[in-house]
Amino acid sequence: MQLTDHVELLRGVGPQRAAQLKKLGILTLEDLLSHYPRGYLDLSDPQPIVKAPFFQTCAIRARVEHKYNGIRLASGRTLFKVLAADDTGGIELRFFNAKFTVEQLKVGEEYLFYGKAEGTLTSAVMTAPLVYPVGRYPAFQPIYSLTSGLSNKALSNLIQQALGLGVVPEERIPPQIRERYCLEGIETAIHAIHRPSCLEQAKEARRRFQFEELFTLAVGIGLLHSRTHHKQSVPLFPHSLEPFYKALPFQLTQGQLNAIQELTLDMQKPEPANRLVQGDVGSGKTMVAAAGAYFAFLSQAQTAFMAPTELLATQHYQGLSKLLGGLGMRVALLTGSTPAAQKRAIRQGLAEGSIDLCIGTHALLSQGVEFQNLALVITDEQHRFGVAQRAALQAKGRCPHALVMSATPIPRTLALMIYGELDISVIHELPPNRHPVLTYKISSGKRERAFGFIKKHLDEGFQAYIVCPLVEEGEEPSPMRAASQYAQELSARHFAGYRVGLLHGKMKASLKEETMSKFQSGEIQLLISTTVVEVGVDVPNAVIILIENAERFGLSQLHQLRGRVGRGQAQSYCLLLSDTRNPDTLERLQMMCSTNDGFAIAEYDLKTRGPGNFLGQEQHGLPKFRIADLTTDVALLTQAQEAAGQLLAQDPTLEFPEHSALRRACEKMMETVGQRPN
Ligand code: ADP
Ligand code: MG
Repeated sequence: MQLTDHVELLRGVGPQRAAQLKKLGILTLEDLLSHYPRGYLDLSDPQPIVKAPFFQTCAIRARVEHKYNGIRLASGRTLFKVLAADDTGGIELRFFNAKFTVEQLKVGEEYLFYGKAEGTLTSAVMTAPLVYPVGRYPAFQPIYSLTSGLSNKALSNLIQQALGLGVVPEERIPPQIRERYCLEGIETAIHAIHRPSCLEQAKEARRRFQFEELFTLAVGIGLLHSRTHHKQSVPLFPHSLEPFYKALPFQLTQGQLNAIQELTLDMQKPEPANRLVQGDVGSGKTMVAAAGAYFAFLSQAQTAFMAPTELLATQHYQGLSKLLGGLGMRVALLTGSTPAAQKRAIRQGLAEGSIDLCIGTHALLSQGVEFQNLALVITDEQHRFGVAQRAALQAKGRCPHALVMSATPIPRTLALMIYGELDISVIHELPPNRHPVLTYKISSGKRERAFGFIKKHLDEGFQAYIVCPLVEEGEEPSPMRAASQYAQELSARHFAGYRVGLLHGKMKASLKEETMSKFQSGEIQLLISTTVVEVGVDVPNAVIILIENAERFGLSQLHQLRGRVGRGQAQSYCLLLSDTRNPDTLERLQMMCSTNDGFAIAEYDLKTRGPGNFLGQEQHGLPKFRIADLTTDVALLTQAQEAAGQLLAQDPTLEFPEHSALRRACEKMMETVGQRPN
């Protein structure tokens, strides 16, 4: 048997089973073996029944004493009760609809039951326990993700069958790297992960596979980068940016000027620029983008500027079309809701070169959008876009220069993982005359007072935001209802007489835009919103942001939200409303109150919550990991990147025959994000 063999070659796999496996993405034996367990049941240490802790899962070893007949319940389900006991006491086992399982149990025989015990001091109950015949199970039972019709036992048996046939995946980590990072070889690891004899063994195996995945990704991104590195880009000529600087209503900060200079120097080189601008919220990154677009325009070349939401694209368009239009540039806006006729006109303008700058959303990526001479691709709030989307936009030109602007500072390790090798410009300072936003954590008992505080500022002519988090995904009431109900309540009761608007992600684009422009013009005084205002929105007259259930947000997200205020000259406030008692959460919120430094917050967030949470639920364009879900610790991520760098330094295109298995794995992984290295 071979790795590439179809699972149907295994004993017991017919078309139906194969279809179930396919749902889990398992087609070949290799797929089957890389379906790693989610965790393990510890059956090694059964508890005496009297000691079984309530409300925690545990294993007990007990004799079946009596089986009752099934009872048909009003719900239509059938309940089977079984009495079992050990030397210390008895327990009632309850099974629902599990006729077969109960029939298999023999009175007088011992079994291992695994489940959650409940009950009172005198009587214990375990509902729907897993059942194992004594002595015929591994001490650590792997738990797999499943699909309907496929039990853990069945899947586990198939994997054991494949392992028994001696099928082992290819080794992808070169020996010297395994040695340096103390990683097990593939053969040991694949057995240990599916059939560990102790938890320590399972842990080591997991570490090896997590490393493998991160390493493969890091090498894949490295290969992708070296591909563009050798290409020729659109040559741009030195020109003075003086007219641009003169057209601005303010003086740029030193950080902005440096970033602009670094970018425009890059853009005069033959190979494409690949630059990330890191700057705190409100540091004026958009101006760096504008300068880049103007610089391209001076060489008669075009710029595409992609933002993650229509709201943001529209806002950029409104600001930049005025500024750059005054300098002779022709600027267009292309989003999903641009009317068809207008879309056609824009596409034509881009193809014949009569549009110099096109700002837009994902719509920029769609087929039929062609540029005459695309020199610069800008992506704003980049971590929401995937590697693939960025590359798709770049593919629209002959290797254009790339400028990426991060929403909040991203620690370097993570930036490398998401963007690959990039040059980084950092804007350290905020524009002058900004007062740091004052941040307070308050409990819901102070809500009324907070509303009063907001009203006072509205009366003075300022504006404010109230943000409520999305209700958990899939939870009722839907996020839409939650936000809109809350808005209604607020506008009817607390803010009667004020002009209140509502904004949430599920609203139609045109309505969102209308609401936002009403807020921008001051027609709406108080904007109640879900996190759609999170990124980029710029209304300098807004001075208070109140965040409900602040404990639900990540720090970087809170910081990003806070960045909606403090954009003008007036003192601004951020009120974090939370009744949490969790000490870790309180510490996080305290961190928000004590600093406005986004770089410090990002480091702290990454350290305390791990990269997966740091990036939030948003799509970050990374492949779906099998095992390395990015909540793995940062140390492993760093090691994998280090190792990838060392390997690529020796063999930049993975030509050595001993790297061919790794190369194939990289290709496969990058294909899942729509990329093909080289
Ligand atoms: P971010 O870095 O968060 O994207 P923006 O580019 O949206 O920040 O800029 C925030 C605000 O600061 C905008 O209103 C912008 O016009 C203004 N701004 C940018 N640069 C300066 C500057 N040098 N001086 C004063 N205001 C500036
Ligand atoms: Mg911005």
